[in-house]
Amino acid sequence: MELSGKLQTTLDLESLIELFAQVMQSQFDYDTLRYQTADQDLALKFGKRAGRNKLNYDLSVLDTDLGAISLTRGRKFREPEIQQIENLLAALLYPLRNALLYRDAIKSAFIDSLTGVKNRTAFDSNFSREIEYNRRKESDLSLIVLDIGLFKRVNDNYGHIIGDDVLKQVAQNIEETIRSSDALYRYGGEEFAIILNGTDMSGATLLAERIRQNVASMQIPSLKDDQVTLSLGVAILNPQEDSSNLFERADAALYEAKDSGRNRVVSAA
Ligand code: GH3
Ligand code: MG
Ligand code: MG
Repeated sequence: MELSGKLQTTLDLESLIELFAQVMQSQFDYDTLRYQTADQDLALKFGKRAGRNKLNYDLSVLDTDLGAISLTRGRKFREPEIQQIENLLAALLYPLRNALLYRDAIKSAFIDSLTGVKNRTAFDSNFSREIEYNRRKESDLSLIVLDIGLFKRVNDNYGHIIGDDVLKQVAQNIEETIRSSDALYRYGGEEFAIILNGTDMSGATLLAERIRQNVASMQIPSLKDDQVTLSLGVAILNPQEDSSNLFERADAALYEAKDSGRNRVVSAA
């Protein structure tokens, strides 16, 4: 199969670059091939020895930045080889653009478009995996579920647009409180869940309390004198239970927080 046809057989970015690295290796004796996405989210390296001679290429199609590829080896790159390398790179451009678009589409399928935090699909996809991961590492995993209090009233009194804006601000406020290893998900309308890796019950409860306080003291001019409050339920993963069991216990704690007056944290037994 000719190269461009071969490169069109995968939309997966890592497989594509690996395939390209193999094709390159079959034609040149390079030491390392590196690829980095424009957003620096992904860096790949093939080959081990780092040669002294280096070729760098910033790749783009029209105005789209497709990242950068570099090749190194001990021997100098000769002019006819450089020409041939550039021909191979040209065949990579469109398949690479397609793989990057595909990657963006997959990413946005896991993001809530209103708040920018991970969505329910992401939660369902990650939760069990996070649990297995922490079990293997014998590390604690905790879950916080939370719900904005009397949110229907915000919509009724101020309209949906302001309601949407409040949701965004609350999500952002929570993001600022948690650590980068904690993942915030918009689970439903005005309900969120936070998966806490390596966090025990007392750490999770403390964090929930801090989130509660930070949201309760938010200044939201469009709400006049009304305050946004959260009810939060916290649970830590037990040795025997599965993901739905853990979620149910955290959710039950959340309902207890609501039933006992809102704007509070309840820890599951
Ligand atoms: P509680 O304190 O018991 O939780 O009362 P609540 O009003 O917060 O709960 P309820 O479940 O009765 O209402 C949730 C409201 O959240 C109703 C719905 O219109 C609103 N909501 C859900 N998603 C969105 C959204 O994306 N934007 C806006 N503006 N409102 C939303
Ligand atoms: Mg609710
Ligand atoms: Mg609510």
